[in-house]
Amino acid sequence: MFSSCVVCGGSELKGLWEVNGYTIARCIACSLVFVQNQITAEELNAHYSSGRDDTYDETNIECLNFYYQKLGDIIRSRFPQPGRLLDIGCSRGWFFDAMRGWECHGNEIGLADALIARERYGDGIVTGPFEEYPLREDYFDVITMQDVFDHFRDPMAILEKCRRLLRPGGLIVIKVHNISCLYARITGRNFYAIIPPSHLFYYDARTLDRALSNSGFRVVDSEFIGHLLKVETVFSRLSQGNTKSFSYRVHKALNGTALGKIKFHKNLHDIITVLAVKPVSA
Ligand SMILES: [Zn+2]
Repeated sequence: MFSSCVVCGGSELKGLWEVNGYTIARCIACSLVFVQNQITAEELNAHYSSGRDDTYDETNIECLNFYYQKLGDIIRSRFPQPGRLLDIGCSRGWFFDAMRGWECHGNEIGLADALIARERYGDGIVTGPFEEYPLREDYFDVITMQDVFDHFRDPMAILEKCRRLLRPGGLIVIKVHNISCLYARITGRNFYAIIPPSHLFYYDARTLDRALSNSGFRVVDSEFIGHLLKVETVFSRLSQGNTKSFSYRVHKALNGTALGKIKFHKNLHDIITVLAVKPVSA
């Protein structure tokens, strides 16, 4: 078990919930919420090889593109000239379609998805855990982590690696669930994003700012970008991965039906996108 907080070093931890056999705790000093059990890389690999999230396949591409386009526009507003992009956890690589003209690099741990991404976008896609991604100092203009950062076992080591990969003045973008949104506060341990051991850390604007600042970044923006969501996906989320739950059975019943495919716009501030720069002087 972790005896202190990885972001601030605080040793006063308060147990919040037991979920899926894991203890979820909050750091009293900085309010970071995290899985207190120390998970080995082997445990995590076994978990990920047992299945994949169907949110990230072709049937959901229209919903994914809604966010990708908005994020692409935000990046272009800061970098009018195309540069070098690294998307960590790039899945099948669709975000690159929203970043045409850029030199696109990706990293993906899922073998099947990485293979598809390589076929589409070439050798810039590296298969394997990001911890093993080749280090090229000061190389990238922009690094993105979309629905990825909360999965890492050692987030501070990940940020340190990103800082070295980014050129001075480069931008890091982190999109994660927001544990401080009203919806999360009302639903508590039933908040749909609380799915250990998939999500090991639960951030908000404050803890992300602290983690990034402690890693030598300067936060320049934080946004709540809405999502386009299918009705069937809502029930999948509500099930928190429990295939025996009522929500999961509804998800399965709706899957692929006309009702299940109905899309709506959602912005409960439950997803936060934070932008930070590597200072030129660092
Ligand atoms: Zn802390």
